Amino acid sequence: MAQAVAIDGRQDFITTKGRQISRLKCDDDSIAGAVSQRACVYCGARVVLNPITDAIHLVHGPIGCASYTWDIRGSLTSGEDLYRNSFSTDLKERDIIFGGEKKLAAAIDELVAKYSPKLVFIYSTCIVGVIGDDLEAVAKAAANRHGIEVIPVQSSGFAGNKAAGYRAACDALFRLTAPATPAEAALVGKDRSINYLGDFNLAGEAWIIRDYLAQVGVDINAVFTGDSSYGELKKATRARLNIIQCAGSMVYLAGRMEEAYGIPYMHVSFLGLADTADSLRRIAAALGGGSLSERAEELIARETAKVQPVIDGYRAKLAGKKAAVYVGGGFKAISLIKQFRELGVEVVMVGTQTGRKEEYETIDSLVADGTVILDDANPSELEKFMTEQGADLLVGGVKERPLAYKLGRAFIDHNHDRKHPLSGYAGAVNFAAEVYTTLCSPVWRHAKMGGDLDG
Ligand code: SF4
Repeated sequence: MAQAVAIDGRQDFITTKGRQISRLKCDDDSIAGAVSQRACVYCGARVVLNPITDAIHLVHGPIGCASYTWDIRGSLTSGEDLYRNSFSTDLKERDIIFGGEKKLAAAIDELVAKYSPKLVFIYSTCIVGVIGDDLEAVAKAAANRHGIEVIPVQSSGFAGNKAAGYRAACDALFRLTAPATPAEAALVGKDRSINYLGDFNLAGEAWIIRDYLAQVGVDINAVFTGDSSYGELKKATRARLNIIQCAGSMVYLAGRMEEAYGIPYMHVSFLGLADTADSLRRIAAALGGGSLSERAEELIARETAKVQPVIDGYRAKLAGKKAAVYVGGGFKAISLIKQFRELGVEVVMVGTQTGRKEEYETIDSLVADGTVILDDANPSELEKFMTEQGADLLVGGVKERPLAYKLGRAFIDHNHDRKHPLSGYAGAVNFAAEVYTTLCSPVWRHAKMGGDLDG
């Protein structure tokens, strides 16, 4: 029997393993009337493209869209930091009535004069979709005027869900990375290096993975998009393999690159000890094995020996605890279930904003009977199932934090606001330490006491 939920139509998006045989509905638009945890199309596109550090990110719309996503993630840069600005055309009532194209063109001119960028992204927002400004035409004219690349991102907020924003960003990246000359086309797939897709260099995570792969003997050509630059991205098609960490945002682009250029792709995850080791082994094998595989094994043995005793120490303290996971993509949810298993913590509720059918099938195969699995949840559902399932901890993003704290539950930000890396061996230790400090903090005892006094 389906779980009781307050909003009609949501039943098919929620399942309890072992109690229902119906397939979970996912990868669909949100139900009208449910204010789900998803962000809008524009936000999805901005999140993906923003770590291109030397680009102008110009948001064509009212100021709120740009302000809502300003410096949305802690993506670090090793070079330029233009991306940390949030530029907006700040559309007003008059622009909505008479059109905003002139204002957009003037904004591009002003920004080019001030910053001399090689690349400008212009993002469409809800109101621009409504009034019908022609971003393509404005971008083309500006590109000709200034001799730089100006790429429109078709991301009107209402035109689908966050996953559509990922696709809009991938379309922009595909356009940016396309070889522009026959000479460049001849270089497709010719480098020995690989591209790393779907790592946003939060707290420097892409640098950790770059260092691991360098120790194995594998060079990263470009990261899409973490600490990315225009120059790197223009050479992206030279790589011979794409590895994808965040499948939700990047599998579409990897598919397009495989189709257009014959560059194969594979999924990886650097969350937790098991997934990190597995990914290093598979990358080495995909690139020919041999000495690469030997060096991967040496790295895995060396790093595991360093961190396993620390992880085991935390595991002993976390016995019997229960976690809930609600994150953006399915692949991260899968990794987190495995990582919690390494820590001896049971995942009793798991959901995503944009998970795909095959990812939910994997999730279902990993969790125990009785685990609630849900797609595109809203706050009241998260509250209901976290409470019913007795979750001690929620892993989520910036929007889930207040919910957890109001319920008196521990919380871990696995998304926007965190300041320490959670990838690789160092990240696994950081994660274990954070699980321990938030779950076992005495603050929860006092919070419950306060509740009793008020109640
Ligand atoms: S694009 Fe639309 S939904 Fe997204 S922030 Fe702007 S107004 Fe809101």
